[in-house]
Amino acid sequence: MLLIHCPYCDETLPELEFAYAGEAHIERPKDPSALSDEEWRDFLFIRTNPKGTHYERWRHVHGCARYFNAARDTVSDKFLTTYRAGEARPDLDRKEAAE
Ligand SMILES: [Zn+2]
Repeated sequence: MLLIHCPYCDETLPELEFAYAGEAHIERPKDPSALSDEEWRDFLFIRTNPKGTHYERWRHVHGCARYFNAARDTVSDKFLTTYRAGEARPDLDRKEAAE
């Protein structure tokens, strides 16, 4: 069973408590009307889909109902860390290099 840590409740709970909410750290364009159709398409649909560390949004739907971010390894399906929405993306390369 996949376990996820909610950074607001400070509890680690089964995946069933949570809902995936897409890739994290995608900033909405300040002036969408200035974008070309291709740029708008890319904003809406194009995602990095990496093999390895993926930064994604999750929502604790059956708990505090808040959105938060997580770094998950798409190869092992293990969560590397979770952090509150609005916090900077953690520098996991530095952490891995120190280990
Ligand atoms: Zn929570």
